[in-house]
Formats: sequence, C-alpha cells, structure tokens
Amino acid sequence: MTDVTRGLLIVISGPSGAGKGTICKELLDKNDDLYISVSATTRNPRDGEIDGVNYYFIDRSEFMKKIEADDFLEYAEVYGNFYGTPKSKVEEMLLSGKNVILEIDIQGALKVKENSKEGIFVFILPPSMEELKQRIIKRGSETTESLMTRFKSAYQEINYVSKYNYAVVNDQVEEAVKKIEAILTAEKCRVDRIKENILDSKEGVIHEQLYD
Ligand code: 5GP
Repeated sequence: MTDVTRGLLIVISGPSGAGKGTICKELLDKNDDLYISVSATTRNPRDGEIDGVNYYFIDRSEFMKKIEADDFLEYAEVYGNFYGTPKSKVEEMLLSGKNVILEIDIQGALKVKENSKEGIFVFILPPSMEELKQRIIKRGSETTESLMTRFKSAYQEINYVSKYNYAVVNDQVEEAVKKIEAILTAEKCRVDRIKENILDSKEGVIHEQLYD
C-alpha cells in the first residue's frame, strides 16, 4: 500500500537568477513540514555562505569518494564544479514525513526522474530574460565570464521546462511561494497517491455494515 505518511519529493530547477534560492528560503520559513536538502559541492563558498548550511563544501577527491560509495541520489557537473544530493539524508527525511525539496540543476533533475519512482518537478521561470540578466548582475557574486556563462545557459535551460510537471513564474516571490504551496496541497490529494488507503477504509466500513 502507498505510504501516505511519506513526505513528497519536490525537485526545483530553473536558470541562475530565476530566484530559486529566495523561494526555497521563504517556503522553509513558512512551512515546518519542509526540509531543504543540503548538497555537497566542490565550488568555493561565496561570501556569507556557511558550510553545512548552504552546502557541504568538499574537495574533488572527497566528492569522487562519495560517488564511488554511491552516497548521492544524483550528482552533476555545473559550471565546472560538482554538486550532489546526499541520498541517505533525503530518504531519512521522506520517511519521517517531511516534504523534501531538492534545489538542483536540470541534469540532476532528469537523473532523479529516471532513477526514482517519486518526484514532483517544478521549474522556476523569470518574468523576462532582461529581468533575469539584471538579477544576475545585481547579485554581484560572479565574474564577468561566469556571468556570461550563466546567462547563456539560462537561454538553453528554459527549453527543458517541458520535462517538468509545473512551471512557476517568479514575478513576486510571495506569489511564487503560494503557487508552490498550492502544488503541494494538490499533490497530497492525488488519487493515485491515496487511492488504496481510501478503498481500504471503505472496505472497513462495508465490512462493519455487513457483519455488525
Ligand atoms: P550555485 O553555484 O549558484 O549555488 O548553483 C549552481 C547550480 O547548481 C544551480 O542551478 C543549483 O540548482 C545547482 N545545484 C545545487 N546543488 C545541486 C545538486 O546537489 N545537484 C545538482 N545536480 N545541481 C545542484
């Protein structure tokens, strides 16, 4: 029978500057049944980023060891650095009933889609490409070269929206957060998720009516 107490696995992707990070932070602040997976990465920490909070910052050889040990639910190389989702922590959180968010790139999302039976795939879009460019520039954390790379990739990445279940335009963060909360509520009510449990309890009632 489907375990209705198991949390939902939500995979969120979208181009750099679409606002995934802000949306996820806001979702976490407003929903205590959520867990945002902390990835491991070989990229250097940006100003203000904390090891174990934003990412687990590890070196390449440690990352390779983790790949060997099958520690990742998925991993990918993004802009020359490796990023991976710790498998055991995600499973532990799902089992405990938490809804788990993976904020990962498209390659990683497609791997989860391929390898896992579960997953709700949400693509975050910027309101326009010009707005996206301004947001990346405003963030100020990238070199000009890295900024151009991220902006060019954004153009290509948007084509992958069709592989996802939901698209959310991040015009106003509050609105985007509300939409994702609505998606979660709807997913919890999906008949294919709860069907067996409903039928089971219905049988219970019929049984009592027949034999009491
Ligand atoms: P950033 O360097 O800006 O933090 O992240 C760069 C990209 O890597 C973003 O698109 C982010 O979603 C993605 N990313 C972060 N963690 C993971 C992960 O564990 N797996 C994959 N595949 N991508 C990730």
